[in-house]
Formats: sequence, structure tokens, C-alpha cells
Amino acid sequence: MDSILVVEDEQDIADLIRLNLEEIGLKVEHRITGEDALELALANQYDLILLDVMLPGMSGLDVCRQVREKKPEQAILMLTSRDSEIDRVLGLELGADDYMTKPFSVRELQARVRSLLRRAHLLSNLQKSPEPEQCLTVGELQIDHLSHRTILAGKELDLTSTEYDLLLYLASHPEQVFSRSQLLSSVWGYHHSGYEHTVNSHINRLRNKVEKDATNPEIVQTVWGVGYKFCKQGVSV
Ligand code: CA
Repeated sequence: MDSILVVEDEQDIADLIRLNLEEIGLKVEHRITGEDALELALANQYDLILLDVMLPGMSGLDVCRQVREKKPEQAILMLTSRDSEIDRVLGLELGADDYMTKPFSVRELQARVRSLLRRAHLLSNLQKSPEPEQCLTVGELQIDHLSHRTILAGKELDLTSTEYDLLLYLASHPEQVFSRSQLLSSVWGYHHSGYEHTVNSHINRLRNKVEKDATNPEIVQTVWGVGYKFCKQGVSV
């Protein structure tokens, strides 16, 4: 049974989330404060952490940052109440995998949680798989599913699981252009619109890690009016 840690100080919302996540077969633990949540998140393994930004005391942003420092691969879905929080939540510093803005529908909550869990499992299955061909090499870029390591020009990159998935997807289809909604559906597993901003933010984060100059990207290129593509030449030896 998948387990999920829900961190939310508003009891009504927490009850609603618990009810709807238990309905889809998840084991739910709930904490009200960031301090309690952090302690639990570091001591236990959760398949997903659902984290409200606005909490009394330690904020969800601080919890996210500290969990990420210790467990870079932990899947984290943030709940925000203000649009102004979205950039910070998805930004390079925090790197949440995704966000939902309040108010949200319970069906959307279930769909989001399901797809994040699916991706987390896909990733851990790939890591466990003994297939020797589970290594993708394009020019100077090497992505190793077994060890979950990404090496660019001899240097190991420190990617979150979403950045890893995104890079793997793009690098597996070099020179192919993908729209934001195609990436949302293939990498995030979403089939509804409105969250294209998630894609932009993750592309920016990825560029900060892979490009020599993120303002002038050579590897993950923008195709104006269409989307993004992985450019082989950017990683050529
Ligand atoms: Ca709150």
C-alpha cells in the first residue's frame, strides 16, 4: 500500500484530503505543523508528501527545502493558496515536483497523486531493473537508470526526480519537438491543461543544471511557438 504524508493545518481540508486519498487505497498520515512533518519525513519512507505552503511556524517551503537536502528523490506535491507562491515552489531552490492551487477539486487531487505515484514507481522499478542496456548515451550525456545517475561531460548532475524524468524523455527523442501539453502528458502523466507553467519552470531548472549558459541554451532548446527539443549538437563531443 502506498503511503502519503499530508501536511495541512486546516482540519477541514486535511479531512477532505484524507478521505479522498484513502478512497483510492492510500495509507494517509497527517501532520499539522512543519516541524512534526519534517521529523516524520526524514525518519520514514513516504511514496509522496503533500505539503501545504502556509503552516503555523515552519512553512511548507522550509520543510520542502530541508527534505530535498536529505532526500533529493522524495516526491513532493505542494498546495498553494496564492499564485505568487508558484514560482518559488517550482523554482530551482525548492524544486517541488508539482503544485496544486487551492481550491482544488477532489478528482483533480486523486488524479495528480496517482500520476506522481506512478512516476515514482516507474523510477524505482527502473533503478531495480537489472537490464544492462538501461543506459542512455547521447554525445557527452550519459543517463544511467540503474544508478539513477546523470553525467554530462564527465561531471555528475544533481537532478531531482522530475528533472531526471524530463531530461530522460527529451534525450530519448533527440531533435523531436514537444509542446508543453505533450510533455505534461508524457512526463507528468496529466491529461488536463492549465499546468503548462509547471513545464516551463522545470525546463528552466533543468537548464540551470545542464547548460553552460542557461540564458542561451544549447541542449534544451526552445522552439518558439511550439515547445522544446533536445539538441544533439549541444552535447556533441
Ligand atoms: Ca495552511
